[in-house]
Amino acid sequence: MYGISISGQPNARLKKLEVGGPAINFDYAHFLPNSPKCGVLHGHSSMVKVVVEGEVVEDMVIEFGELKKTVKKIIDEMDHKLIVCSKYVMDVGGGAVKVVFDGIGGHYEMLIPRSSVYLIEQDSTVENISEHIANRLKQMMPRNIHKVSVRMSEGFGKSATSTL
Ligand SMILES: [Zn+2]
Repeated sequence: MYGISISGQPNARLKKLEVGGPAINFDYAHFLPNSPKCGVLHGHSSMVKVVVEGEVVEDMVIEFGELKKTVKKIIDEMDHKLIVCSKYVMDVGGGAVKVVFDGIGGHYEMLIPRSSVYLIEQDSTVENISEHIANRLKQMMPRNIHKVSVRMSEGFGKSATSTL
């Protein structure tokens, strides 16, 4: 018989893995019509940190490189876009959309290329964007991963964490 038995080890080994740092970042524009400060079109630079939790399969939860690549794929789609709730957006054909809202200073109407817009289902607060990223990430993870947590900053010293 080979191997040494090690007592006190549970059968399912759960581990957490974390990726983050300056390389995982994106820039975006948004507006929040009901906010006294963010009710104007403006932008943010955002850093993302991800923690995943799951069972160890063949000595790993997931390869760091694979996790990083998946996170980058998700945020690259949002990079340098206007992240906006679909309720403010109208398709006008010809590859363009019209974005309409009432915010600080009055009425806004913008005719912009569809390719410059990233639609989400809720207002683009840092809480909702981080939840959107967490949702997408969870769907793309292997089955041994049960929990994902996405921490996303909105400028300096401000961040939100969504755990799913
Ligand atoms: Zn903002």
